[in-house]
This record gives sequence, C-alpha cells and structure tokens, in this order.
Amino acid sequence: MSLPIVEAAYKKEKPETEQIPFGRTFTDHMFVMDYEEGKGWHEPRIVPYEPLTLDPAAMIFHYGQTVFEGLKAYRTDDGRVLLFRPEKNFERLNLSGDRLSIPPVDEDEVLGYLKELVALEKDWVPEFEGTSLYIRPFIIATEPSLAVAPSKSYKLMIIMSPVGPYFSGGIKPVTINVEDQFTRAVKGGTGMAKTAGNYSSGYQAQAKAAKEGNADVLWLDGVEKRYIEEVGSMNIFFKIDGEIVTPALSGSILQGITRTSIIEVLKKWEIPVTERRISIEELYEAYEQGKLEEAFGTGTAAVISPVGELNWLGKKMVINDHEIGALSQELYDTITGIQRGRKEDSFGWTIEV
Ligand code: PMP
Repeated sequence: MSLPIVEAAYKKEKPETEQIPFGRTFTDHMFVMDYEEGKGWHEPRIVPYEPLTLDPAAMIFHYGQTVFEGLKAYRTDDGRVLLFRPEKNFERLNLSGDRLSIPPVDEDEVLGYLKELVALEKDWVPEFEGTSLYIRPFIIATEPSLAVAPSKSYKLMIIMSPVGPYFSGGIKPVTINVEDQFTRAVKGGTGMAKTAGNYSSGYQAQAKAAKEGNADVLWLDGVEKRYIEEVGSMNIFFKIDGEIVTPALSGSILQGITRTSIIEVLKKWEIPVTERRISIEELYEAYEQGKLEEAFGTGTAAVISPVGELNWLGKKMVINDHEIGALSQELYDTITGIQRGRKEDSFGWTIEV
C-alpha cells in the first residue's frame, strides 16, 4: 500500500556545491506517524516539511522522552540511490525506545515508508564526491501532561538533509581529548540508547576539549574513569601490535552500525579483532612501548576518522605521526566503496531505493 502524500506547493532550491553545512537544509517533504495508547501507531503519511504545533505541556519538553537515528542515502556514479543497512537503524530505534519506555514500531513497515520518502525526494540526494542525504528518524512524546510517567501519545517523524563531506578530500587525522572529569554514561543508564540527553550532557566536555584545540572527546567509564568507551558520536578502534581492539558493548556505549560493519570486514579479512575492556593506562603503556599503531573512530558521519593525537591528563599520544594509517584508509575505502556502489557489496549491505 502506498502512503498518502500531501505534495509541497513549492519546491526549495537544492544545494549546487559540495559545501553543504551539516543539518541546516531540509528536503521538501517529511514522514509522520502518530501513536496513541489503545490505537497503536497509525496514520503514516508524507507531508510538506513544516514546523510542528505542540502543546507547551507536551512531555518531550519536560522529561526528554525521545529517541533518534541517523543514516544516509548515497548517490552512485550511475545515478542510483543506495541505503546502507537501514534495517539496523530501525532495530536500534526500537532498542533505544525500549530503554526510554517508548512503544516499538514495526521495523519492516517503517523501512518501507522510509524507502517511499527517499524515492519521492530522490533528486535531493546530492551527487558531488563525498556528499549524501542524511536521514533523521526520531520519536517524541506528545501527551500534554506534567506527570512524570511515560507519555500516552507519540510522533515518529523522518526528516532529511543533504550534507557535504565530513572532511573535504577524504579523511584527516584528528586530535582528541580524553575526558577525565565529566561522565557520559554508566552501566544501567541510557548510554546504549540514542537519546537526546546523552548528547546535550556532553557539550561542556566538548567545549573544554575544543578550548585546548581538540576536535572531540574520548569518554572513559563513569565509575573508575579508566576504561575506554567511545568518542562524541563515534565508536573507537585501536591497532595494537597487529591486533585490532575495540571496547566491548558494556551497556553504556552505543552499538554503532559502522562499528558492527568494521568488525565484520576485519573478520572477513582474517585480521584479529577483539571486543574487550581496555583501559587508558593499558593504551598509554602500549603507546610508550611503540605498539599503538593506529587509532580510528567509526560512525555514519565520517565512516572512519583516524585519530592523530590523544591528550590524557597532560600526556600526549601522537599516533602514526599524525598520518592516515594503512588499515584506516583501507577500511574507509572499502565501506565508502560499498556505500557508493563502487565496490562489490559481497555482504549484501546496501538496498537500492
Ligand atoms: N556513538 C555515538 C554516541 C553515536 O551518536 C554514534 C552515531 N550514531 C556512534 C557511536 C556511531 O554509530 P553509527 O556507526 O551507527 O553511526
């Protein structure tokens, strides 16, 4: 069944260069679906992109009951449009929703709606090198009530925004501060969910890091301030003495879809990869012994973001001389090659719209 569509009366101008600032331009249409207790999710529809009217008492404004996702649609050289493992995003949306007491959506059904939305907005998927159409599904609690309890009504929306390359001309090693005061998440908290408060509560650490010339924050566990968790919006990997190590999913870090994909690629290449606890002391020791060969963040935004320097309590770890490591480059080329239809998708990860 195809969705009811209210067409936008006027179409906006699309960006004509690759210099597109992140998340500021939105396509002509958006997807909306409502939830009410007793009725379930209903009235899926595509409507013109426009502001919402919400009751000032809507629960989203007061207790932050909300979850979101982030994925991209890519333009291939022959003009097709591909999505990268989108089913994983709706699976994670429900995982996050479960943590925030938000009722689950039918993952297959919503993926079908997303495909219809992307098909309608196909011309918005930019074709310049490194560009894509960023897709933001999110759910907000809409019940007008100040009661501290789960909302009885919600809205699921999908908005889309053309975005430029994360780094123009490929990848670039970044400097990262290892945060020693603030905490992002603890086991038992909401760290494994993609929910608003996990991000706004990181702004102070982000500002502190930026003041000292760091591009991002590496979070340590909230209890012992020892074990490495993840970067602002990326998971983290290290190459130590030929072995790839990434922090195990402890409940306080996000299960990145790029992370999962990188692990699968490494296993296929028969490169040893271990998911385990790794402390900042162990990392520093490996660095001092000359065994820390590469470090890189993984996420939808940059795919692979090599780490050229880590700053931890006044100690500096310069990794691979601020150069892009061979493995980082190969992984970047492999994943972006699959996403753009330039490399064979032997994993079956892409879906054509
Ligand atoms: N960690 C956090 C906190 C994130 O926000 C993201 C981005 N979604 C990631 C890791 C990477 O996840 P993915 O590979 O699915 O983009």
